[in-house]
Amino acid sequence: MEAGQTDTPTAASEEKEAAAAARAVAGLRVGSGYDVHRLVPGRPLILGGVHVPFDQGLAGHSDADVLVHAMIDALLGAAGLPDIGRQFPADDPQYAGADSLQLLGKVRTLLAERQWRVLNIDSTILAQRPRLAGHIPAMQVNIAQTLGVKEVSVGIKSTTTEGLDAIGAVKGIGAHAVALLLHDPSLQDCACMTPR
Ligand SMILES: [Zn+2]
Repeated sequence: MEAGQTDTPTAASEEKEAAAAARAVAGLRVGSGYDVHRLVPGRPLILGGVHVPFDQGLAGHSDADVLVHAMIDALLGAAGLPDIGRQFPADDPQYAGADSLQLLGKVRTLLAERQWRVLNIDSTILAQRPRLAGHIPAMQVNIAQTLGVKEVSVGIKSTTTEGLDAIGAVKGIGAHAVALLLHDPSLQDCACMTPR
């Protein structure tokens, strides 16, 4: 058997595979988000749409759900859209006390209108107190339902900062998030454009 007879189909199939891989990643976009809010007395602590019992809550124009805000910025960033502050201005009275899950629902619509499908989102909450582990499954359910994805596609972790910095001194809570989107032209007539 001559070398050319085996090389040619192999090279062709490798090229095909490479082209398929290039097409698969062409529609992928990653985004990152970060947010932090101060802890103050007299406010409820809302994280991932869950009311977490604590003697302080996060200060902010909306419900100050720092986790959802970080996720929103990750999603908007991946889609190349303006950030949360420009989508939902803090000086706009319609967002006073807003439920951040509803804002997340609006972001889902913005993404779907531009044919972006959420593949997964991952996040870390930075909080010295209170302990959050027991509340994370309920946060995952809220966010998965709002985005129309499976719970396994919504990662939420929590960590302390070992008593260091302002978060370690229980002066605030922060959150990081990353999101992966796929540009999917089949979303054009999708019912998932309507948020819950
Ligand atoms: Zn925020």
